[in-house]
Amino acid sequence: MRIHSLPRIVTIHTTEFRRRPRRMELPGDDRFDRVVSSSQRFHRGDPMSATDSTLSNDLTKRAHEITRRELVLYVSRTQRSQAATERARKVMPMGVPSSFQAYDPHPIVVSRAQGSWMEDVDGNRYTDYDMGFGALFSGHCHPAVRSAIEGQLDNGTLFVTPCEANSEVAEMLGARYGLPMWRFTNSGTEATMDAIRVARGATGREKIVKVEGGYHGHHDEVMISMKPPLDLAGPADNPTPVPGTAGVTNAVLGDTIVIPYNDPEALERALRGGDVACFIVEPVMENIGICKPLPGYLEAVREITQRYGTLLVFDEVKTGITAGWGGATGALGVTPDLVALAKSIGGGLPLGAFGGKAEYMDQITSGRVVHLGTYNGNPLCMAAAKAVLSEVCTPEATDGCIDRNRELLAACDAIIDRAGLAAHAVQFGAKGCITWSANPVRNYRDYKNTDFDLAFAQWIHGINRGILLPPGLDEQWLISIMHSNADAMRYAAVFEEFVAELIA
Ligand code: PLP
Repeated sequence: MRIHSLPRIVTIHTTEFRRRPRRMELPGDDRFDRVVSSSQRFHRGDPMSATDSTLSNDLTKRAHEITRRELVLYVSRTQRSQAATERARKVMPMGVPSSFQAYDPHPIVVSRAQGSWMEDVDGNRYTDYDMGFGALFSGHCHPAVRSAIEGQLDNGTLFVTPCEANSEVAEMLGARYGLPMWRFTNSGTEATMDAIRVARGATGREKIVKVEGGYHGHHDEVMISMKPPLDLAGPADNPTPVPGTAGVTNAVLGDTIVIPYNDPEALERALRGGDVACFIVEPVMENIGICKPLPGYLEAVREITQRYGTLLVFDEVKTGITAGWGGATGALGVTPDLVALAKSIGGGLPLGAFGGKAEYMDQITSGRVVHLGTYNGNPLCMAAAKAVLSEVCTPEATDGCIDRNRELLAACDAIIDRAGLAAHAVQFGAKGCITWSANPVRNYRDYKNTDFDLAFAQWIHGINRGILLPPGLDEQWLISIMHSNADAMRYAAVFEEFVAELIA
């Protein structure tokens, strides 16, 4: 039975998140069975869902109990969201504008957001740790971004002819990334798609390489092996490319080679044929929690790609300027040939960009590679980006977020240590996550070996106490420019409550 079609049976309304949830004996609690257990949980249509955990341990039963109780509470506090979703399902598949946003029993439907918080249509207020999948590093409606947008509204929103802000923003990105030439897009998807096309144009080669578990947007050639089921995924050191959606042709599938992250030998094997245009990779993977490169991995990747004439494309759509002033590229000291950006550079507006070395971006100058788009570099997004890059996310403000985040990480690690849990906290720049395994995640297969039951129980427990993160279990928190120290540490306080319950 679909959870959203059940009669309303719970009537408790609360916006008081810190209160301990009441234990409720309600009829029909078994309706949550499918969501409670990771072995049955199925995020309908979410191509990124990998929640069929392979684990079972002593805490699983406790995690299921917490999840079951919290799901009841969740439904009771989000009745208007439920109604809004039911209405939306009649006119939009899954009732959401992007399948990422769908989850059971129903997503919260938001009415407004400012600074570091969001409020849903039931009047519940959340500290937002998702911040638009990291797009809102400058916070919701930062005053400087708002004033830049308002200023631009007086002068028009779309010219389809250049504005001076185009080169100003390109210069700012160039200074941060050490790459001279840029073009703008409207999303991360377009940025990675166009970067791949430039790489193919520059090399005259058709194949591309990506890593298993990597997400690079929703164009066909990278909608492959984002979160493949293990029974289809082949051997760990030589994964089988698995389409992440219907509609990917065999020709496209045949052009995308999938390798494990953190495995330079696998990259070398893939490039040996001399027919690969580019290796597209997040320098730090941020769609399986946070998965960092092992020491020397990115340097090896740089050397191997260069040796085989394959372009190295960093997808910094998620890392971006949340990783540090110069992105992950600056923080990790390895320069790619091309980089794709979006999210954090746009201050909440739909903006992407790709940039690179002149010899490759010249493909566009010469007209060999064509890059188009009605809304590219539109003045409204440029105004927001200018404010983000020059006024809001300054080096000092960025470092301040990273420092606040470090304190949060330390608090979470201390809680984990005291409880003796097989978990750890991972930081990259202003982002962090709890990984429910004792060992670091080095690649997708390690990620699949983390405990999704505990992760889901923590997520649903947190959201009922005003800690907002997406339920995919593959996301991170972001400490934005507008998160105070108290905002940042709220996560640790609720996490501590969760851990106390888990081990009680
Ligand atoms: N690349 C990465 C690493 C991403 O995480 C995403 C989106 O989450 C994209 C590309 C696609 O960006 P967009 O959703 O703006 O198309």
